Amino acid sequence: MSFMYRSTRSEGVKLPFTQAVLKGLADDGGLYVPDQWPTFDFMNSEWLGLSYQALSYKVMSPFMPEIQEADLRKAIASAYDTKFAEPRIAPLKRVGPVHILELFHGRTLAFKDMALSLLPHFIQLAQKQTSGPKAEIVILTATSGDTGKAALEAFSDVEGTRIIVFYPTDGVSDIQKRQMATQVGSNVHVFGINGNFDDAQSAVKTIFSDVDLRKRMEKEHKVFSSANSMNVGRLIPQMAYYVSAYFELVARGEILQGDVINVVVPTGNFGNILAAYYAKQLGLPIGKLICASNANKVLTDFFNVGIYDRERPFFTTSSPSMDILISSNLERLLFEASHRNTDTLNTWMDKLTTQGHYSLSREERSALEVFYADSCDDAETAVTVKKVYEQWEYVADPHTAVALAVYEKYVAQSGDTQKTVVVSTASPFKFSENVLKSIDPSQVWHEITEVERLSALGQSMKQPLPKPLQEVLEAPILHRDICNREAIQKVVEETLGLV
Ligand SMILES: *Cc1c(COP(=O)(O)O)cnc(C)c1O
Repeated sequence: MSFMYRSTRSEGVKLPFTQAVLKGLADDGGLYVPDQWPTFDFMNSEWLGLSYQALSYKVMSPFMPEIQEADLRKAIASAYDTKFAEPRIAPLKRVGPVHILELFHGRTLAFKDMALSLLPHFIQLAQKQTSGPKAEIVILTATSGDTGKAALEAFSDVEGTRIIVFYPTDGVSDIQKRQMATQVGSNVHVFGINGNFDDAQSAVKTIFSDVDLRKRMEKEHKVFSSANSMNVGRLIPQMAYYVSAYFELVARGEILQGDVINVVVPTGNFGNILAAYYAKQLGLPIGKLICASNANKVLTDFFNVGIYDRERPFFTTSSPSMDILISSNLERLLFEASHRNTDTLNTWMDKLTTQGHYSLSREERSALEVFYADSCDDAETAVTVKKVYEQWEYVADPHTAVALAVYEKYVAQSGDTQKTVVVSTASPFKFSENVLKSIDPSQVWHEITEVERLSALGQSMKQPLPKPLQEVLEAPILHRDICNREAIQKVVEETLGLV
């Protein structure tokens, strides 16, 4: 009955799901991955006609047999409830030649809600299974904008937990900043940093691997966990929406059960697209995994040339949640590409740290052939937002537009017109100024207020302003602290009263 997780960097100690979630990152600095792949029969008719909640149970339960069925079903029911504005949770919309999978109907209007709504439940179930006195779980999170708010929202006032979030002050949209700065909860701490997402993520990873700090934490009955996608608790729930989209296409008669579909994912830290790859590993008929990047096209170059090189200029783009040069979850794909060879993997990861780059041999690259990767810059993104609006009356946020633009390049290059799901990761309301500028460049959108912009956007979309956004606009600012990236560890220690 046991199903275990191991680190990408050594055989090490194997843990069940709940314990791996609690730990976040393995002690050797590696990421937890399933020790084996459960088998699924996607040709079975049982998959048809399920609610999102029932389907998500069916996908996730083999990965966490230590959780009782009733507990898992309850967790799923309370994660995917009326907090989502869409009863279908992850609706699929036909837009021109593609099907857009909208993952932004949760409280924070971005796809991070899909997994983070469940994470506190996993952590509480893990604590329930731990005997003896319970330690306080400290969720330490680096964010490029959306993880921070989704994690704050999920963990706010959750008993036995505390959450600390670091976001790049100049690297998020106005709404994203406001969402975090207005967060209520007696256990939440929010800091802007002078630096980018990679700085925040590296600092957090260093803190996780600090043995001395961990010991001091233990003395105070505290342990760190992570809400970032390096936590395997983020990945497993994300597989479910790919399965859901697939069977929605079957239900609509767009494909026959067993037909192959392609998937396009706007990518930053490689977590979302990795979940699609995992779904493919389980047997879901996915053909190409199309990895779409913005001007920070480190992944495009990696897939096309076989060299991962983070030594390059960093761009602040109109799709800020993808402004990342060190995509953590790629490590999990490389682990599979190396045929789970930890020596090879450690060599690559060491090179990335010491030299800033590593390269794969031709053979090693063959495992990556199911991926297609391309990128698009801000100008192409804006043109795509406008075109999609004019042709199909669909308003796409800039992240989704990157995916749509890259899909167009893929079709032009390959001629492959297989049924395709394009993942939409954020609501356009989160990036109102940019979206309006793209749709109608003749107006001076930055001179009017955010509220006026949102209302103009609502008119274009023929939709009212989402309620959680209305609330954020009216809420008082509670968090204003900013620190330098070098000070992140000190800030964490001070916040936790360790110094
Ligand atoms: C986080 C995020 C992404 C990138 O997802 P990864 O899993 O990090 O690749 C893309 N778009 C939006 C809106 C996001 O919030």
